[in-house]
Order: sequence, then C-alpha cells, then structure tokens
Amino acid sequence: MTTFRSKKIFFISECLVNQNIRAYGVGNMKGQGCVAEILNVLIKNGIGLSVVSCPEVLYEGLKRNACGKGRYENFEYREICSKKAQELIDRYKLYLDDDYKVGGFICVNGSPSCAIDYCYRGKEGKTKCFEPGVFIEEVQAKLKEEGLGLEFVGVRIKELSNVLEKINSIISKM
Ligand code: SF4
Repeated sequence: MTTFRSKKIFFISECLVNQNIRAYGVGNMKGQGCVAEILNVLIKNGIGLSVVSCPEVLYEGLKRNACGKGRYENFEYREICSKKAQELIDRYKLYLDDDYKVGGFICVNGSPSCAIDYCYRGKEGKTKCFEPGVFIEEVQAKLKEEGLGLEFVGVRIKELSNVLEKINSIISKM
C-alpha cells in the first residue's frame, strides 16, 4: 500500500470543526457540529487541516458566555495565547522546512480571540472595532519576530460565500 501526502494544509480554528465549543450566546454559527461548507472545500481538494485548539476553552472552559475583547485583555490570557501562538509557529516552521504548502489560517471574525478583521468591544461587547482578537494578535507578533508571512481568512457565516471564494482562490494557487 502506498502512502501519499498532498503536503497542502491550512490551519483552522478548532470551533470551525466543532462549534460545540463556542461561547454560549454567540451568533456566527451554522449547523450544530462542524461548518461543513468549509470542510467540504478542503476535503474535496485534498487539503489537510492543522486544527488550532481553542484558547478560550483553555482559559475558562466550555461554560462561558459571549463577550467583547476587553474581557480577554489581561496578563493571564495573553500568556495562554502567547504559548499557543508559539506552538502554531513551531508547527508552521516544520511544514515550511519540509516544503509543505500552507494556505493560511482560517479563523473566526467577530471573535475576541480569533478574529482577524474585526471583533467587538464595549460594555455589552457589541461595538464593532476593526482589529484582530487577542490570540491572533499574539500569532501576528510571533510571525513578525520570525519574519514569516501567513495568510488569514476570517470566517463570518453571513459572508460564507465570500469566505469560500477566498479559500478556493488560495487553493488554486497552492
Ligand atoms: S476562541 Fe477561537 S477557537 Fe475558541 S471558540 Fe472562539 S473563535 Fe473558536
């Protein structure tokens, strides 16, 4: 039996393959398990997934409520995110060292941790602000330290067709 590596991967936020871990009260979800539309595209194209486990679950567990970024801007959570970001970078470097094609990091817009384009602030966590979440900030800082680039695709379920278009466009160049 022969084995075959496509050597093509994306990093992906854990909750996109398991929405059961999202905070109580969040919108931006589709179906009850994984976001099948995203996974289908990746599976169809022979892309492997490097799942980035949820930093909020590590910090607070599963019983947590949706909130704004301010709640996570503290030393303890930054430490967790920084450590997790380093793990991601270490894995990324392993892929690059073995000539893998890394399409990017499919993360979650609106999340106080895993957003790339925008998240929310304010007392009730409803004021939109155009900045990444805490975890993605830590990833970006480490990428900069290492002089590495990485594409980000921020998922918003209401804009799923745009997200799929972007993923397909990246795949076509891998
Ligand atoms: S912190 Fe990230 S991985 Fe965890 S539920 Fe939020 S968006 Fe998903």
